[in-house]
Amino acid sequence: MKIIIFLGAPGAGKGTQSDLLVANNNFIKVSTGDLLREVSASGSNFGNKIKDIMQSGSLVSDEIVEKLLKDKLNEVNNSDANIIFDGFPRTIVQAEILNDIISNLEGNLDVSVLLLNIDADSVFERIVGRFNCADCKENYHDKFKPTKVADVCDVCGSQNLVRRADDNRETIVNRLKSFEDEIAPILKFYRNIGDVVEIFAGNHFDDVYKDIINRLEL
Ligand code: AMP
Repeated sequence: MKIIIFLGAPGAGKGTQSDLLVANNNFIKVSTGDLLREVSASGSNFGNKIKDIMQSGSLVSDEIVEKLLKDKLNEVNNSDANIIFDGFPRTIVQAEILNDIISNLEGNLDVSVLLLNIDADSVFERIVGRFNCADCKENYHDKFKPTKVADVCDVCGSQNLVRRADDNRETIVNRLKSFEDEIAPILKFYRNIGDVVEIFAGNHFDDVYKDIINRLEL
């Protein structure tokens, strides 16, 4: 079983690359951001609290993220697919939780820590322009990957194209700040126990995908 721990700034392309690995390389994506977005869309009091935290660009508490992650892993437990952790861990506590989870998994494990590197200006441009289809989840970008017909999804024909609430300029500044605070200790943690594979993420997503495939020998 292969495990990829995907690290990188918001907008570095973790989501896009994870989707490619899911489509082509028998991976399941476990994204704490996606799990939290599901909860925040529920309309419950708890969901609204999560929504406010995400909207501010701060991190949700380790306890909440751990519970959601473990519930999700129980769901995928019987599958023989490989797993990508996208957006997790973001704190040392979470990195320790993930180490425990991995050490309790059975079988032959091949764990890679992958860092997508990109500069802050490119991140801004990428995040501000991105949107996706609410129905089939296809990703788009105003400049880099527009829909062929304006406001219509190329894949499923839906007109239900949406932008993430936290993809606005103010929140992005805070999300980048959170990332800068969180990434140094996380990298130190992983470099102490093994290799971190660094990939330049400023190229076209097809080329970044090829680099990942080559470097991880997938
Ligand atoms: P993402 O989709 O990974 O960019 O995450 C969007 C937002 O969800 C973040 O800005 C945080 O508010 C929250 N979030 C996602 N993953 C985590 C995590 N592992 N720990 C804490 N907060 C998280």
